[in-house]
Amino acid sequence: MAFDYDLFVIGGGSGGVRAARVAAAGGARVAIAESSRMGGTCVIRGCVPKKLMVFASGYREMFDDARSYGWDLEDGAFDWPRFSQHLNSELDRLEGVYRNLLKGSDVEIYDTRARLADAHTVELADGAKKTAKHILVATGGRPVRPDMANAHLGIVSDDIFHLPELPKRLLIIGGGYIACEFAGIMNGLGVEVTQFYRGAQILRGFDDEARGLVAEMMREKGVNLHLGTNIVEMARASDDHTASWTGTQSDAAMGAPAGERVGEDADGGGSGPVWVKATNGTEAVYDAVLFATGRDPNTEDMGLKEIGVEIGRRGEIVVDDYSQTAVPSIYAIGDVTNRVQLTPVAIREGMAFVETVFNGNPTPVDHHLIPSAVFTQPELGTVGLTEEEAREREPVEIYCTSFRPMQSAFAGRPDRVLMKLVVSKENRTVLGCHIVAPGAGEMIQLAGIAVKMGATKEDFDRTVAVHPTMSEELVTMKTPMRVA
Ligand SMILES: Cc1cc2nc3c(=O)[nH]c(=O)nc-3n(C[C@H](O)[C@H](O)[C@H](O)COP(=O)(O)OP(=O)(O)OC[C@H]3O[C@@H](n4cnc5c(N)ncnc54)[C@H](O)[C@@H]3O)c2cc1C
Repeated sequence: MAFDYDLFVIGGGSGGVRAARVAAAGGARVAIAESSRMGGTCVIRGCVPKKLMVFASGYREMFDDARSYGWDLEDGAFDWPRFSQHLNSELDRLEGVYRNLLKGSDVEIYDTRARLADAHTVELADGAKKTAKHILVATGGRPVRPDMANAHLGIVSDDIFHLPELPKRLLIIGGGYIACEFAGIMNGLGVEVTQFYRGAQILRGFDDEARGLVAEMMREKGVNLHLGTNIVEMARASDDHTASWTGTQSDAAMGAPAGERVGEDADGGGSGPVWVKATNGTEAVYDAVLFATGRDPNTEDMGLKEIGVEIGRRGEIVVDDYSQTAVPSIYAIGDVTNRVQLTPVAIREGMAFVETVFNGNPTPVDHHLIPSAVFTQPELGTVGLTEEEAREREPVEIYCTSFRPMQSAFAGRPDRVLMKLVVSKENRTVLGCHIVAPGAGEMIQLAGIAVKMGATKEDFDRTVAVHPTMSEELVTMKTPMRVA
């Protein structure tokens, strides 16, 4: 049977664009459909705009510190519309780069939604049908609001980048990395941030000691973090209410009056103050409520189940080690498979797919020892097992130090950093490395190479320190802090 294409990719995000480009560069006839903007979550509403906001938010502290370093500076204000305009033109530029890369590789672009009609046919939004020998689903995920009345009054991470103005008071619901990163960003930009997380500690899944220090530092820097707390009710606040109410969650906790609230309405999130009641009984009004409560895979109304693609419990596409679905001609990569939701992983999965399907070299995706970073202030960089995971598996030695780094200590700030190695007692392999420090994302990329290579504690020790740096502690810790 003659197909229109060798490969049809649905979704122009990190994974889809890379797979399309690499397959086309190898001579395959490739098409890609994207329903929103080329570049996907990472470029348009994830990693890239978020990191630029992290940079923007860091200047306030830098200006403060600069005075301690002898600089005369005048107090200035952050201009959100100016930053936002610059941010959007940068995203336009990047989207253009992605488009040009695809065009340059002769990938045919369809700017439309697509779904599956059968094992070899994609149906576009206008009803047109395109056939392909292989179909790659790379539709990513989307933020979800909790299932509660008036949840539409809250915003999600996609909306943050389009706020016409910064809220004065922001409530963030969630304790994952996206919630914590936005708490740090908004706090740095001068927003009064309250964060509710229903669990006992933020950043579930990361090393306990590291998450503890991040939480402590977030509070130290001004984030009003409430653990074991969730939202129970929300409603649009009335004008009367907002005029009389000037309190925050913490004021409410101290017994300030909550004022009146009006009934539910139908306007969208972010368009006015919101009254919120928490599980601890407190009530407060916020200018915006951000739900960072998880992401669902984009598998709805895709025609997947109908043609036999297996869908998992969380709505994800179930794939094997080679990203192949239950329908042999259909593969899936990236967030839609809910394996490891990170851009470099989606890209790796895309490359492995092309290697397997178009280069005759079956390549499973290696999900072992993936370094990653949380861009809080300070950052958290991590690779390998947490102390808690390692202790479950085998006897370990924990090498750990926490100290005030030179740069901020000189400026009189109480910031602390953490350098931690989890070492196998039996064979001395470094099983995990966890860093909480400014620039930890950069540090863990390099430490990740050593850990991935199977370096032992003695390999770290044989490496001469780079002095004076924070990360030199990783090669100078002589005595284990704990043996477990
Ligand atoms: C706020 C935020 C911050 C993040 N920060 C980081 C970070 O610092 N580091 C990191 O590694 N990762 C980060 N991520 C995660 C990262 O963005 C994702 O893991 C990555 O983008 C996944 O790539 P993907 O190709 O699977 O999907 P996506 O990039 O989501 O792309 C999927 C694309 O498919 C399109 N699409 C969906 N359905 C259809 C359809 N039916 N037809 C046509 N097109 C469709 C979508 O519009 C989208 O463009 C962040 C995510 C968020 C939300």
